[in-house]
Amino acid sequence: MPYVFAPSPQVSVPVAGRSERFPVHRIYCVGRNYVEHALEMGGTGREAPFFFMKPADAVLAAEPGVAVAMPYPTLTSNLHHEIELVVAIGIGGSHIKAADAASHIFGYAVGLDMTRRDLQNDMKKQGRPWSIGKGFDHSAPIGAITPAAQVPGIACAAIHLQVNGQDRQHSTIAKLIWNVAETIEQLSAAWTLQPGDLIFTGTPEGVGAVVRGDTLAGSIDGLQSIQIHIE
Ligand code: MN
Repeated sequence: MPYVFAPSPQVSVPVAGRSERFPVHRIYCVGRNYVEHALEMGGTGREAPFFFMKPADAVLAAEPGVAVAMPYPTLTSNLHHEIELVVAIGIGGSHIKAADAASHIFGYAVGLDMTRRDLQNDMKKQGRPWSIGKGFDHSAPIGAITPAAQVPGIACAAIHLQVNGQDRQHSTIAKLIWNVAETIEQLSAAWTLQPGDLIFTGTPEGVGAVVRGDTLAGSIDGLQSIQIHIE
């Protein structure tokens, strides 16, 4: 089919140990899904899950073992890191029950929900959408996806972020308020999930600012770690 200009290339993420890549459809994110982070953001710690999105081409794919450059975004002076477990959907569906959720998961990856916190806070105060704070270019660094069968212990894996070698965030996936299966149940009631969807499941406490020149090292036990250099 002829187009009036060349369509955008398919966004994709590497798959650990395979030459085929994972083609990205949408990026969903869960807000405030660890109690201690909800408290540090001024929440109660317990509330129904809520969702926001980033554009698929916000993905900044980190190839295994390679530090990827993230340009410091425009308009902010308070760029925050949020280390998160990312769920990669392999089989779509709507109204997926938590008990059936595992069969829809292709794999897992380490991701960073990078946030222009000053802009997000300003929008929150005004009751306006968060898009400018969350959905900017390169705002979704993500490492290679590990197929689910290779990480049976993911539900209680350690999650860890260092900046310039210093600990910033350290928790366990077991502390998710809404676990992966429950998140898929709730998310798929609101949107029909498609193969290629990514779900950023929320960040533990310890979010904070990074500046140009910082190196972020994110890891979750059993998954490919990521290194991001802010430029
Ligand atoms: Mn987040």
